[in-house]
Amino acid sequence: MNQDFYRKLVTIISEEKIKQNELLACHTTFRIGGPADYFVLPENPQEAAAVLKLCRKEQMPYSIIGYGSNLLVSDAGYRGLILKFPCQKALVQFWQENDRLCARAGAGVPLMVFARDAAKAGATGFEFAAGIPGSVGGAVYMNAGAYGGEIKDYLVAVSVLDEEGNCQRIAADELELGYRHSVLQQKPWYVYEAEFTFPMGETEAALQKIDELMRMRREKQPLEYPSAGSTFKRPEGYFAGKLIMDAGLAGFRIGGAAVSAKHCGFVINEENASADDIMAVVKHVQKTVKERYSVDLELEVRLLGDFS
Ligand SMILES: Cc1cc2nc3c(=O)[nH]c(=O)nc-3n(C[C@H](O)[C@H](O)[C@H](O)COP(=O)(O)OP(=O)(O)OC[C@H]3O[C@@H](n4cnc5c(N)ncnc54)[C@H](O)[C@@H]3O)c2cc1C
Repeated sequence: MNQDFYRKLVTIISEEKIKQNELLACHTTFRIGGPADYFVLPENPQEAAAVLKLCRKEQMPYSIIGYGSNLLVSDAGYRGLILKFPCQKALVQFWQENDRLCARAGAGVPLMVFARDAAKAGATGFEFAAGIPGSVGGAVYMNAGAYGGEIKDYLVAVSVLDEEGNCQRIAADELELGYRHSVLQQKPWYVYEAEFTFPMGETEAALQKIDELMRMRREKQPLEYPSAGSTFKRPEGYFAGKLIMDAGLAGFRIGGAAVSAKHCGFVINEENASADDIMAVVKHVQKTVKERYSVDLELEVRLLGDFS
């Protein structure tokens, strides 16, 4: 541990917002991941900017996480600093402009809460987001989507801290939003707020649709096991889960990691799996599907830490 760096860190953010050797398994839905040297929970963008500036000055590697619902962290953890906005349920504002509902949400707001609140405030079309267990920041970064809807359909702009720690507002059409892709994946930017616009409709109908989509998730997805959702992106013209099932890999297991028999698109932490177990299953699935169907399965899950 770099005590000189720690001494400088506590001059810009209070000690109770910094953890050393924090186990990242506690911050991922896979429940997997070794310790991060430093784990910092800034309360506002100004604090986050100061921490990022210090990291750059001191050449301390850093990474940003949301709710860890699309992350596989290595067993060795992360050598550097992890920045995470704490859960910020209150940082949501709704207002009406003509026949649209507009919203501004902090990056740490749970997407599930935001989508339900948007429906209650009169939004229609955003129901798909109510079952995605990430943060608003993570959802923008991933252009999360489900059941035919995507974040990009409703996003107006994001506010980010850029590489110099300066605030920038970036319009959605500059973010190159595509299937599980945004330009943020190539930039060291920290999203701290996002703005949305929704068509308006019947609140009761929107809430019913959310309940219906949640029921479908419970029926079809292995929500009883820790996972990061769909492990692979949907290859053009195919469904990853179907290819994996057709390859006879339902239930395929290495160590504590397995291909879910309920939904083959999910690699699950069935029993105290390590990150290495998950990666061993991932690699076997990729190799088998490539051999059988000549299809490359690309990881949707993001990797953090050393996987060499
Ligand atoms: C049971 C289950 C079901 C799921 N269903 C879906 C689904 O239907 N559709 C779907 O799209 N996804 C789904 N996911 C995956 C996941 O919920 C989404 O990808 C989500 O958007 C990730 O958000 P997060 O806050 O957890 O991000 P994290 O997993 O913490 O991070 C993901 C990436 O985003 C970056 N990031 C996070 N926050 C920020 C920020 N503020 N600024 C800059 N970068 C940031 C991180 O660096 C990382 O690279 C599912 C996951 C689970 C466990």
